[in-house]
Order: sequence, then C-alpha cells, then structure tokens
Amino acid sequence: MEKQQKTSGVILASLAHPDDESFGMGGTLALYAQQGVDVHLVCGTRGEAGDVDPVYMNGFQSVAEVRMHELSCAANALGLASVNYLGYRDSGMPGSPDNRHPHALAAQPLEEVALKIVYHIRKLRPQVVLTFDPIGGYRHPDHIAMHQATVQAFQMASDPQVRVDEGLPPFKPQKLLFHVIPRGYLRTAVRLMRLLGQDPSRYGRNKDIDLTALANIEFPVHVAVNFQRVAQLQENAAACHASQGGQQNRRSLVRVLQRMLNSKVDRFMQAYPTPPEGYLAKDLFDGISLN
Ligand SMILES: [Zn+2]
Repeated sequence: MEKQQKTSGVILASLAHPDDESFGMGGTLALYAQQGVDVHLVCGTRGEAGDVDPVYMNGFQSVAEVRMHELSCAANALGLASVNYLGYRDSGMPGSPDNRHPHALAAQPLEEVALKIVYHIRKLRPQVVLTFDPIGGYRHPDHIAMHQATVQAFQMASDPQVRVDEGLPPFKPQKLLFHVIPRGYLRTAVRLMRLLGQDPSRYGRNKDIDLTALANIEFPVHVAVNFQRVAQLQENAAACHASQGGQQNRRSLVRVLQRMLNSKVDRFMQAYPTPPEGYLAKDLFDGISLN
C-alpha cells in the first residue's frame, strides 16, 4: 500500500446501527482515516433493538445508551472524524415487534430519511459515499432502508430544488459505493454449515438469515480495499461492541468468514459512476483528483 496522504479527502459512510461501521467495512474506514482522509459516519439508529446481556447494562439507562457508548469507543479506534445519528429507532430483524414502532427506521418515508442524509452530504462534502448493498448484506430491514435512502440522497444532494436546514448549498459527491459480501464466502459458509450438520437457511442468533438464498444473489465487485496494515484497528473497534459479541459476533458474517479465510480485504460495488467493463480498483479514490 502506497503511503499517499489524502489530506483533502472526505468519505461518508451511511449505515444503520452502532456496530455496522466496525463489523462491516471497519478495516476500510480505519485505513483511509490513517491516510489523512476525514471519515465521517451517519448512523440511522441507536441500535435499540439489539440484544444486550444485563452485564453490559451496568451504569447505563438503556440499550441505546450502551450502544452509543460502544460506537464512540469504536469511532475513536477507527479514527472517525464524526458520528452523526439520524435519530430513528432500530427496526429489529424482519417480523419482530420492533418493526412496527412508530419511529422504526424501516417504517419511515424514504424521502424523509433521504433528506436527513442530504443534509449531512451537503455539510460534510464527501467525494466518496459508502453504504450497504441493495439487500442490506443479509436483509436487515434497516440496512435496506439506509441503502435506499442513501441512493436517493446521493442524487438529491446536488439538486438545487432540494432544500435542507441551514440553507446548505447543493453538493455532488463523486462516487457511490456499496459494501458487498463476496459470494465465495457465502458459498463456503453454506458448505461448511452443511458439513457441520447445520441448516444454512437458518443462520444467526435468531435463525432468520437464509445464507443459501443470499449466496445466490451476486453483486459485482469494482473496488477491493486491502486493509491488512490497519487490521488491528478494525479488531480494536469491533471489540468496543462488547454487548454485541465484540470480535466474536456471530451475526457479523463478513468478519467470521474473513477470519476463517484470513482475508483483510473489503469489497465494494461501484454504483456511481457506472464503471467500465472489467473495472477493478484497489482505492476508493481511484480517478478522483484531490487538491
Ligand atoms: Zn446493522
């Protein structure tokens, strides 16, 4: 990895829960922060629906408080420049009663969530915007909501007709990328689970993740970021989320598989601009000139 300083670079990661930033693309966020990029996070919810063992509630009033505390620890470990909550409520996994809470992120009008993200895009002026893939990694309703709202916000941010607080002027980021779980990992997981006599269509703590179905949905990979040299920072950040299992988090499919295969690479699909056929870059800022 070249030691290029990207002092004027700005990345905005638009995610849903405290822990998405560490378990998902944490290695990449830490890598760019180390290179001098301002890496900002928008977090849709405070993770209210997360399962938290009472041992972690000591000194906190609510699950949200625990999880915000954990996120601030992780943000510090990753070197994030800011954490910005949208203030919605964690919708929980599909079918859970949390889905129907009036403030549940997944139940909000898309345009309203998008407008809040537009505000942060205009305020922070990132060249690169990152979010979940179209199925939210493993179909978490909040991940899908943030994906859709971020895609819409990416377009709205440069539209002068769209108005946000503080009269912030239109701004057009240069790239929109989705973090994707390599399908090879998923197929490996499906095979391993079958070997171990487990049902890969009922993965996860709540047995509601169908790995077999996920493995069949293919997203192209356009950028593969090797975060080997900051891998420890990602692990430190993941460890901050102790209430969610820390580094041992079983739902963190990407991390479980990355550890299994000893991979220190995050993969992204480039949604904008449409990449040329066969495009595969190693840098999120490929083709972007920073001055
Ligand atoms: Zn999440």
